[in-house]
Amino acid sequence: MNDEKIIDYPVAKCPECGQTHDYKLKAELEIVILSIANTPQTPKTTEITFTCPVNKKPFNEIVTNPPNYKIIGIADPKDEHTSTDDVKSEFDDWVKNSRSIGIDYCKTMLASSSGAVAVYFSIMTYMMIALRKPLG
Ligand SMILES: [Zn+2]
Repeated sequence: MNDEKIIDYPVAKCPECGQTHDYKLKAELEIVILSIANTPQTPKTTEITFTCPVNKKPFNEIVTNPPNYKIIGIADPKDEHTSTDDVKSEFDDWVKNSRSIGIDYCKTMLASSSGAVAVYFSIMTYMMIALRKPLG
């Protein structure tokens, strides 16, 4: 099972030089089994430090994580071969639509997560019984 993926992330306007730079970010599958009870299911963001290739200065940018993935940093160039067109288009769509569909996404996630919470609680209850340990 591949739980990491490489995504293209274009910075439209670099704060250092004003040009467009294409970066690649590494994201890992995020397991939310324990955090789901406390964490609202809104799109999460990660602050990434990029380095401007023109003047070599670092700058930070808030990147919205793709669904079910958490961006863990800038991809190593040797990881690039694992990138696929499917992943690229999926993330491109996500980036293009993320602002306009943000509210819908929250609604969808709230609706689906309330179903998921029941499932997770069942699992947690089972685990608590099986392990005879209080949660937390
Ligand atoms: Zn730049």
